[in-house]
Amino acid sequence: SSRLQTRAQLSNKGQKHRAEQLSILRELGQGAYGQVFEGTLQTPRGKDRVVLKRVKAKVEAAETMGQMEHLLNVYAARAAPQSVAHFLGYIEVTATQATKALTEGLWLMWRYEGSQTLWSYMRRTSLFRDECLTALAADLCLPEPVAVATVIQQLCENLSAMHAAGLVHRDVKPANIIFAEQEKRFKLIDLGACADLRAGTNYIPDEGIMDPSYCPPEQYCLPTDSPDLARQFGVVRSAMSPMLWSRYKPDRFDSWSTGMVLLQLAIPRLRQMESLRDFTKLLKREDCDIYAAVKAARLPAKQTALLEAEQGAGWDLLAGLLRPRSVQVMDDGGVRFVNTKSKAIRLPVSAAL
Ligand code: ADP
Ligand code: MG
Repeated sequence: SSRLQTRAQLSNKGQKHRAEQLSILRELGQGAYGQVFEGTLQTPRGKDRVVLKRVKAKVEAAETMGQMEHLLNVYAARAAPQSVAHFLGYIEVTATQATKALTEGLWLMWRYEGSQTLWSYMRRTSLFRDECLTALAADLCLPEPVAVATVIQQLCENLSAMHAAGLVHRDVKPANIIFAEQEKRFKLIDLGACADLRAGTNYIPDEGIMDPSYCPPEQYCLPTDSPDLARQFGVVRSAMSPMLWSRYKPDRFDSWSTGMVLLQLAIPRLRQMESLRDFTKLLKREDCDIYAAVKAARLPAKQTALLEAEQGAGWDLLAGLLRPRSVQVMDDGGVRFVNTKSKAIRLPVSAAL
């Protein structure tokens, strides 16, 4: 498969560190394939605060997933360094080095960028004040009315750099957007689902491993059933040509997710996942017409006030981001994109909301 083919590229793995340099402090999160910890790395200059991810033992395919995330971090660190959490390299823990906390196997390591993800800001709710936007504005050192626009602009800049390098993140959501305290800007984390479409790395046409709440209706970043793509990824395995990129617009996958993030930032009620799911159902029922969906949802004017500002600039941006590509499902279940000639979304967004 294209995954195996790219093993060869693992020759550039980034910096290798020794197990003795590491200590694990506490668990930060647990996903399907790995566990994430905070820890310290001993260097000649002192102790650095780091984040460590290990691949879960005994989970099938987890090892490959870990190698893919490793590859994608090495590439993204080079191609879009401002867009992603600073990748520090890896550690291979042998059986004899292993401890209870530092288990045998591959560990990936990043700089500890900060304690808050965009999701943790969204969780700060109060009946009386929008604490999410107040906290965002305070940390970004900006006035509250431009906080949402700034977050989305930074997210778009990050994605724009990734897309320019042929990378589609495929798992853009508030929990995967970290606030880097040093630079005072948001960066992307979690490249486990990221695909490098130039090399075909981590791309399997009909595999769906993304969060359904943020995934566009067409579900895939590229058609799963298309002779021209099969030729590129199946037989020839060459880099995806600019011509096919512009025909299928795989970057729109992340644009949709960005639209969902904007919805949650701008409309406080949609920060509850249950409400977001209900709203997404309405949106699909209304053929992805955001204006019709909001009308049908009967949201109080106060909920949508932010989108109304500046002659509805927020609505325009939302409508631009939440544009699915039309699909045709084939007899064997394969998906073909049709009518993809419509105008491309230009990122990053230059105008404030
Ligand atoms: P998972 O595959 O479990 O979703 P993530 O890479 O998204 O793993 O990391 C899980 C959590 O760990 C994030 O939601 C975030 O809270 C924290 N985290 C990840 N990377 C960093 C980092 N570089 N700095 C600070 N916290 C991080
Ligand atoms: Mg994650």
